[in-house]
Amino acid sequence: MYKPTLTIDLPKLRDNARVEKEELLKNGVEILAVNKVFNGCVETARAVLEGGIDVIAESRVYNLKKIKDALDCKTCLLRSPVLSEIPDVVKYADISLNSEPAVLRALSEEAVKQGKTHAVILMIDMGDLREGIWFDKYDEIVEAVKLIDSLPGLEIYGLGTNFNCYGTVMPTVKNGVDFREIVKKVEAETGIKIPRLSAGNCTSYHLIDKGIWPEGLNHMRIGGLHEYGIEYVDMHYLDQYHHSTKPVGKACSPLYMLRAEIIELNSKPTVPVGELGVDAFLQTKTFEDRGIRRRALLAFGRQDVPIENCVPEDDSITILGQTSDHTLVDIEDCKTPLKVGDTIAFELDYTGLLAACTVDGVEKRFITDYSNK
Ligand SMILES: *Cc1c(COP(=O)(O)O)cnc(C)c1O
Repeated sequence: MYKPTLTIDLPKLRDNARVEKEELLKNGVEILAVNKVFNGCVETARAVLEGGIDVIAESRVYNLKKIKDALDCKTCLLRSPVLSEIPDVVKYADISLNSEPAVLRALSEEAVKQGKTHAVILMIDMGDLREGIWFDKYDEIVEAVKLIDSLPGLEIYGLGTNFNCYGTVMPTVKNGVDFREIVKKVEAETGIKIPRLSAGNCTSYHLIDKGIWPEGLNHMRIGGLHEYGIEYVDMHYLDQYHHSTKPVGKACSPLYMLRAEIIELNSKPTVPVGELGVDAFLQTKTFEDRGIRRRALLAFGRQDVPIENCVPEDDSITILGQTSDHTLVDIEDCKTPLKVGDTIAFELDYTGLLAACTVDGVEKRFITDYSNK
């Protein structure tokens, strides 16, 4: 039965992972690959592993289960564990990000039960106000490090911090150095070696790009960089990576193509006829009169992927609007002859990719031809 398709280019994703791994290693930074946008997709995780990254991270334990069941690799749980699923966390994640002593104790107890040692990245909040012990509560940080060190089922993988998530706080030299100094002080005071300083997500890459990466920060958790080949703070494409040729502000990529079938094709006015009220989402609208234009009705809608996150592959096609199950595009200027049953393709941005990988109404396909560069 019909579904619009999402085609993921695995060889290019693998290439990007390889470029990223090598470039960051040159800067003394070890990485783990964040696979969460793909919602536990085994194929994308495998591509990234083939690129040379050896830890796959997800936000949800049910997605880590998919990865662990299919692949032989280390796994990391990004979202702090839920107390009610500790046995599965220990079973499917080798590493997890943490900040609550109660959770740490439960993880240790369960790890002992399962005969494992669970690795912990203790999160420090340097200002972005999502997860982590607040940077100013130094004593709490020390206590948590000592706790992890003392619990029999746990080991310290590193200390971590995160930016540009809730609070939009940018990774800077200042907050990077402050983070490093906290870790140094904790090490000196406790005598406990902290092997990794996990300094952020793909937005932190801008410091490497600019050549101002604070020395000593030696770990990152990255997805968006190898997925899109974009430096996200100044918003520019990175030449070494496969990326889009659309304006960088669209933040889309041809590695993720959504294709939907044309179900109606005709010429209609650009302004509706009749008294205007609200649309399917109770919004009022205004319409510019551009005369009669050729248009296509596509079989996908807001229930699948919102148009705000889709960029037509063909620049001559513009998106007119969307309801729950339909998308309307203007094809008046399109040079390619189109007929009912043909498909129209869109590059997706991160939010569009997230939706396409999450909803039941989109079918995933994969480009697997590794010879075709
Ligand atoms: C999502 C996430 C990342 C990676 O984010 P990208 O933008 O994909 O690089 C890193 N750390 C945590 C805690 C996350 O939740």
